[in-house]
Amino acid sequence: MPIAADETETGEKLLANLLSPGAVDRDEVGKWRLIGGCCARCETRMFPRAPICPSCSADHVVAEPMSQEGVLYSFTTVHVSPPQWHKPMRVGYVDLSNGVRVFSHLKGALEIGATVRLDIGEVGSSSNGEPLANFVFVAEQT
Ligand SMILES: [Zn+2]
Repeated sequence: MPIAADETETGEKLLANLLSPGAVDRDEVGKWRLIGGCCARCETRMFPRAPICPSCSADHVVAEPMSQEGVLYSFTTVHVSPPQWHKPMRVGYVDLSNGVRVFSHLKGALEIGATVRLDIGEVGSSSNGEPLANFVFVAEQT
């Protein structure tokens, strides 16, 4: 069950467990977005943001919001993983409309080439039973 975007306090607390600080925030209308990076020299975009550009090795990569939707490039279903993850879980690569390929948890009616949108969802439980949330790309219902 996806965590509603208006559950700010809970969602942001849970996100802190799984994501680097500043990797996710909300846009001006409250929708979740990933914050990646853009190289100031060659404009290569990336998520997560790296301190050094993977294309030209420049050390000036600035924070940049990523596209909130993309196209499912590939996915798989994982049945064996550390105990905190809900299983089976589906993960894969999403090609964002700004050209960045992101590895992500996935939900919905998955099909390669499907349009997927960013959300926050419960992906596991901590050892004391608290839900763990992370960014999840969700396929539109067809
Ligand atoms: Zn660069």
